[in-house]
Amino acid sequence: MKSVKLLIRFPADKSTTPLTYHLVKDYDLVFNIFKAQIDAGEKGEMALEISGTEDQLDKGLQFLEDEGIEVSLLSKVIVLDEDRCVDCGLCTSVCPTEALKLGEDDLLNFDNEKCVACQMCVITCPMKAMLIHYTDE
Ligand code: SF4
Ligand code: SF4
Repeated sequence: MKSVKLLIRFPADKSTTPLTYHLVKDYDLVFNIFKAQIDAGEKGEMALEISGTEDQLDKGLQFLEDEGIEVSLLSKVIVLDEDRCVDCGLCTSVCPTEALKLGEDDLLNFDNEKCVACQMCVITCPMKAMLIHYTDE
């Protein structure tokens, strides 16, 4: 089982096509929508995660392309919300790449070049200061 996160954009004439229904029914894919903006009769976009075997994913993505849907793979990035962070340092003990460190001033430094988006800090932070964002690849 593999999962991919997608941003799909569709034109107005596809806004009433039950895309997710087809992904489930015809290609046996499991999906989770985490952002959607769809107005009947107007163009829309949806960010979603779909899961299935390689073959099911390939066929499902091909179906979207054949329908004229613009598909972008999303990549995950971790972002520090400095307004929420209280520099407790808990996240530094779970970060496997030393992307998070407390400086000599006892303030948290986040080196996003070293981050591998493992999400350990997201789970650990009591202030919910480490956030997951998704961007177009
Ligand atoms: S665990 Fe959260 S609040 Fe503590 S230093 Fe890390 S990001 Fe900041
Ligand atoms: S996501 Fe993982 S690698 Fe990135 S800062 Fe958090 S713990 Fe470190």
